[in-house]
Amino acid sequence: MTKPPRQCGECQLCCKLLPMKEIAKPAGKPCPQQRHGKGCAIYPTRPPGCRLWSCRWLLDADTAELRRPDRSRYVVDMMPDFVEWVNNETGECTPIEVVQVWCDPHQRDAWRDPALLAFIERRAEEGKAALIRWSARDGMTVFAPTPDDPQWHEVRSESVGHEHTAAEKYAAVKAARRLVGLALLLAALLAAPAAFAQSLPLPKTGQCPAGYRDSGACAPTSDRERPAIPKPAGRQCPSGWSQSGSYCIGPIPETKPQPLPMR
Ligand code: SF4
Ligand code: SF4
Repeated sequence: MTKPPRQCGECQLCCKLLPMKEIAKPAGKPCPQQRHGKGCAIYPTRPPGCRLWSCRWLLDADTAELRRPDRSRYVVDMMPDFVEWVNNETGECTPIEVVQVWCDPHQRDAWRDPALLAFIERRAEEGKAALIRWSARDGMTVFAPTPDDPQWHEVRSESVGHEHTAAEKYAAVKAARRLVGLALLLAALLAAPAAFAQSLPLPKTGQCPAGYRDSGACAPTSDRERPAIPKPAGRQCPSGWSQSGSYCIGPIPETKPQPLPMR
C-alpha cells in the first residue's frame, strides 16, 4: 500500500479556497464544516466534490519544492483543466490545457512564489499554461517563457466561466493535447487583443476508465470516490496512482489522502 509522500498536517486551505457547489460554499471562504485543529465535521459524509478533489502538493513528486499550501497560500489542483482562447474576429475557439492554482484572494500575489513559477515553467515544457484563480469567476491565465518567447504573459479573463465537471475535464485533455505547441498558441493569442480565456466543455474520446460511465463524456458514477486523470504521454502515473487504460486512477478510498482527517 503506497502512502502519499506528504501529509496535510494542520493545513486546511483547500477547504477555504475551493468552491463546493453541493454545500453552496463559495471559493475563498472558509467552509462552515471546518473545525480548527480537528478537520471536517462531516468527513464521513462529506460531499462528492470534496471526495473527488485531489491536492497536487500531496500527490505529485514534482511539487516537492513547494511549501505546504497553508504556508504558500495557494493550492494546486491535481485535475487538469482548460481555458479557451476565442478569436473574436473569426469565432475560432482553441483549447489550452492549464494547471489550476487556487490562490488566497487576500494574498493575490502568493502565486508569484518562485517555487511555483518554476513549477509552471516545467508545465510549459509540457505545453500547458497555468490558470490562477482567486474565486470561481476571477482568474488569470499565465504563460511561462518558451524557447520562442522568453517573456512571461498574464492574460486576465473577463470571466473564468462555470466550474467544469470532472467529465468535461477528462474529455478535454485529449483534444487539447492534439493541438499545436504552446508557443504557437501564445503567439496567436497575443496577436488578438480581444482574445480572452473562458471555460471549455469537450466531448469524450477513447474508452472511459474503470468506474466512469460513457455519457458523451467520461462521467464518474455517483458513488465513485476515486479521482482519475488522463495518463500523461510518456510519463508514469503519479505515485500511489494506478493505470486504467489511458487514465490514471487515484488511491482507493481507504488509502486516499484525507484533506481534513478527524483528530
Ligand atoms: S489536501 Fe491537505 S495539504 Fe492539500 S490543501 Fe488540502 S489540507 Fe492542505
Ligand atoms: S471536506 Fe468538509 S470542511 Fe472541507 S470543504 Fe468539504 S465539507 Fe467543507
